[in-house]
Amino acid sequence: MAVTAGPAAAQDHVAQYLGLSKATLEHPITPAELEAALLSPAGVRDVAALFEKSMASSLAMGGEAIVPELGGEATLDGGHLRFVEYPDPVQPVVRRMVDLRGDPQALLDFLNGSAEGKQLLTGTGGLHAQLFQMTTKEPTIEQRRVLDRIVAGAVAIHFKTWAATPEVQRAMIEKTDWRGRYVGFWHLHPPVRTSAGLVPGFEPSMEDMQIAIEKGQLLTLVFRPDGFDAYDLEPLARTGQPDLGKAHVIRFRSPDWTQRFAAPADRP
Ligand SMILES: [Zn+2]
Repeated sequence: MAVTAGPAAAQDHVAQYLGLSKATLEHPITPAELEAALLSPAGVRDVAALFEKSMASSLAMGGEAIVPELGGEATLDGGHLRFVEYPDPVQPVVRRMVDLRGDPQALLDFLNGSAEGKQLLTGTGGLHAQLFQMTTKEPTIEQRRVLDRIVAGAVAIHFKTWAATPEVQRAMIEKTDWRGRYVGFWHLHPPVRTSAGLVPGFEPSMEDMQIAIEKGQLLTLVFRPDGFDAYDLEPLARTGQPDLGKAHVIRFRSPDWTQRFAAPADRP
């Protein structure tokens, strides 16, 4: 992705982004084009790299490695899919929360220090009350155990799932050089890492289908140990029905992929 600075560049990027819609209206992306791009060597290489990136940023908590979803918006430019990644502002806050869980006062101060932190404080059941108790008196071992469980719950919900705010979307639109036609939003369902190896990611959730209907698309890339399943949710957006049976599923399978992801380095 090309990154340029300055307000003029930002305005140019916004104009480019808006121009994608016009190009797409004049020449809509067909399911066959999307499939060809995903299954092309460059498409497979890029999807594999995204899964590797998500796995490299996993977070160990309670003997389990939680692999975060990645997401953003995508374009199709000359047969090549470009996945522009939008950072989830909550994921790094959850990561820091895990580091600080042994020091309740530091954790409480940290969470109170940002909008995302405050959102976690109020959006994670029992967290605020628990930290309040643990910072007014010397915390007990039992209270520390409860805090660990609450933090693990926050990791499972807020670290695992990807979400981008309108502010992040705007900032990324202004930073990115946009070319080609507009595919829509995308996100990954990475593997679940267990001691037995990699377990396939989940199929699109009801929430994913609702987002697709609202936004027009949420291309969902689901990891499999032997490849990936890409769920094109555009038909759901068109019909307004959250019915996964209506999705166009593009399946990729390859022994090379199996070998790549079976490497011991990728095990927890
Ligand atoms: Zn999802």
